Formats: sequence, structure tokens, C-alpha cells
Amino acid sequence: MKLNDLSSYWMPFTVNRQFKAAPRMIVGAQGMYFQTDDGREILDGTAGLWCSNAGHGQPRIVEAIQQQAAKLDYAPPFQMGSPAQFELANRLVDLAPEGFGQVFYCNSGSEAVETALKTALAWQRARGEGTRTRLVGRERGYHGINFGGISVGGIVGNRAMFGALLAGVDHLRHTHDPQRNLFTQGVPEHGADLADDLERLVQLHGAQTIAACIVEPIACSTGVLVPPRGYLERLRSICDRHGILLIFDEVITGFGRLGTPFAAQRFGVTPDIITMAKGLTNGTVPMGGILVREGIYETICAAAAEGAVELPHGYTYSGHPLACAAALASLDVYREEGLFERAAGLEPLWQEAVHSLRGLAPIVDIRNLGLIAGIELEAGPNGPGTRAFEIYRRCWEEGVLIRVTGDIIALSPPLIIEEGQVAHIVDTLRRIIAQVD
Ligand code: PMP
Repeated sequence: MKLNDLSSYWMPFTVNRQFKAAPRMIVGAQGMYFQTDDGREILDGTAGLWCSNAGHGQPRIVEAIQQQAAKLDYAPPFQMGSPAQFELANRLVDLAPEGFGQVFYCNSGSEAVETALKTALAWQRARGEGTRTRLVGRERGYHGINFGGISVGGIVGNRAMFGALLAGVDHLRHTHDPQRNLFTQGVPEHGADLADDLERLVQLHGAQTIAACIVEPIACSTGVLVPPRGYLERLRSICDRHGILLIFDEVITGFGRLGTPFAAQRFGVTPDIITMAKGLTNGTVPMGGILVREGIYETICAAAAEGAVELPHGYTYSGHPLACAAALASLDVYREEGLFERAAGLEPLWQEAVHSLRGLAPIVDIRNLGLIAGIELEAGPNGPGTRAFEIYRRCWEEGVLIRVTGDIIALSPPLIIEEGQVAHIVDTLRRIIAQVD
């Protein structure tokens, strides 16, 4: 076996053959920077994969994980508890909008979505509405990669080769309106009425068949689609009118990305279930979870027979001690360093910086909210995605990590980013976009 043989590892969501011909290797990370195997520093414009909100190698989080590993490395999650699980749940309920009651743990965003969908179905059944089995997602939604998530998700490429998937799923139209909302700074004006797609599904199938509607408050993975003003409110009121649970998938938007603990607070719209992961542990130890509104847990518990498990669901690593320790330390850091407020404070500068790229020839739209931005390019002469990928590659060579999805560049730096680093990311992009044709 050769040490530099890359053939055995099958990398996720990567063009393996292309990567292995010209690998990019990260061997360390500190603060705003990754270190590469050839000794270069890469400025992290994406918080890893939308997760390292407090930056990398955060000493308090590192220490908490180390101490926890030495003290209690693992505890079986069924029929027994460990104190940090309960403390973390209390802290998360405090962080959530008014009216949330419980937390259920899992290990990733994808698992959080499955947990949310199953909880919604269990709640409907527990309250005597067992005919409600249909689920509604949205085009261009990303809800992870398990079967439920790709079914309600709206990315055809992620499900095309995997068969029939979940039955009884419909999709709302996505919220990007390139006719009316181009180059919007912050929340776009037009398109709240797109939420009425849910009303039409109610008319088509009957409210008594629909259990839940799941959306990302901002669809991030498919290119930063900020919902139009009033859209989420409208979705909320349609759900209320028809007894449909509203799930916000906050795997990216949670933990300060929009300057508030959750997007629910930023938009002033309260869902019934919130999914979370990523920033929950600052990306350090895999962890996901759902927050449920008061009443959901109580209803499901009340419907269970005496002595029966209320929700037949859970994972070997639910509430893992290392994950709980990492999450508690992350919440401490977020609070004590005021990182959510910091993100809110940086937003005007961020917005101005990313919109200063307007006018560069291949850019057809720029979108932003919180410390997120999407920069959409015209497809290059070599086909969809190729120009954006070339920009990604050159940015890496020049020491800046961006993310590309199709022809869209997505930015989401750690919330500790300094003003000069914002300028550096944007200036690097300006230079490279101008060079690439
Ligand atoms: N939901 C959303 C909104 C996401 O952005 C992601 C990941 N980017 C997921 C779910 C899946 O999370 P994971 O990759 O941790 O399974």
C-alpha cells in the first residue's frame, strides 16, 4: 500500500476521478484559515461546509471535547441518560423561539430531517389524524441525502438513480424569481404568493391527507434563494388553517448565520419543528437534532400505550457525550463572544461587499442575507458549472475557499470574519472572475 494512493477512498459529492488527478488536501485549521499539505493558508469563505461558525480550532470547544473523551467516551442512549444531554436540551429550548418544548438528538442534518418527518407523521396519528400521511417539500430544497430527505428535497439529480422513494410527496415551486428580484439586497419583494402552492395542494388532495410541509427558510445548497417578503408568513397561515405541521430545516440557517439564533427569529415566523446540525457543534463532532413546539411531545406521549416507547426512533449515537460536550462549548462561545450579534453587525458591510461585484460580465445575479451570499454566473462556453468550478479551483490556488453549486458561488464565512478578510474574499473573486471566461 502506497501512502499517497488515493484510490481506496470513495469521496462523497466529489468527481472522484477529477479530484484524484489533482487533489486538494487539508491537514489543519485554525481560526479563519485551513492549512494545506503543501503548507499554504486558505481563507475559509464557507465556514467549512456552512458549519464552523466560531472558526476553526476554537480552544474552548477543543478542550471540552478532549476532557469529555477522557471522562465519558460513550453512553448507551436508550433507557439511560447522561446529564449533558439534558442540559443541552434546556439550552437549545432557551435559544429557540418562544413555545418550543423538547429536543431529539441525532447525528447529522440528514438524520434531523428524517427525525422531523417521522415526528410529524407520529404527531398527526397521535392526535387522531392518521390519514395525514402526505408530505410537501419544495423545488430546489435540500434536506440531506437519506430517502425521506431526497423525497421531499427538490434536487432531481440527487434522486434520479434511487427508485421510487417515498410515496405521497409534492413540491411547492421554488422562490427564485429571476424576472423581478434580480440583484436584491436582502429579502426580495416579489413572490409571497408562491406560498399559495400549498393551498392548491390542499385543494387537490384534501387537507386531511397532508401531514407536514418542510422548507429551508433560505434554500442555501441550491444557490441562496432568500424567500420573498411575506412568503414564510403566508406558508405559516396556510399550515395553520389546514392542520399541517410546518418544519423549518435550519441545518444551515441555525446558530447565528442570519444574526439570530434561528432563521425563525430573523423572519418572525415560528414553525412547529426546527431541524438543526452543523453549527450546533461548530462542525466539530457530528450532531443533529430537532426542536419541537410544545404539545408535540405531550400528544405523542399521551397516545402511547402504558409502558410503550413513545416514538420508535433513535440512533446508537443520539446525544453522544462528545457531541453534547462540543455543542455546550459551542453555545458558550457563541454567547460569550457575541457571535450572533457580530454576524448581524457585519451584515451591511457584507452586503455591500458582495454586491460590489455587480457589473462583472458573467454575473447575472447576487443574493444575500445574514452572512450568506449567492453569486450566480451565466453558464460558461464549456457547459453548465464549468466556469464556476474553474473559479473555485483558482480561488483555492490563490488561498480562498469558496463553494460552488452549478453556476452559483455560495459564500458563508465563519461569523468571526474580520472586515479585511471580507474584502480579501471579494477582491480575490473580482480578480479571478474577470480572468475566467
Ligand atoms: N438540510 C439542510 C438544509 C442542509 O443544508 C444540509 C446539509 N448541507 C442537510 C440537511 C444535510 O445535512 P448533513 O450533510 O449533515 O446530513
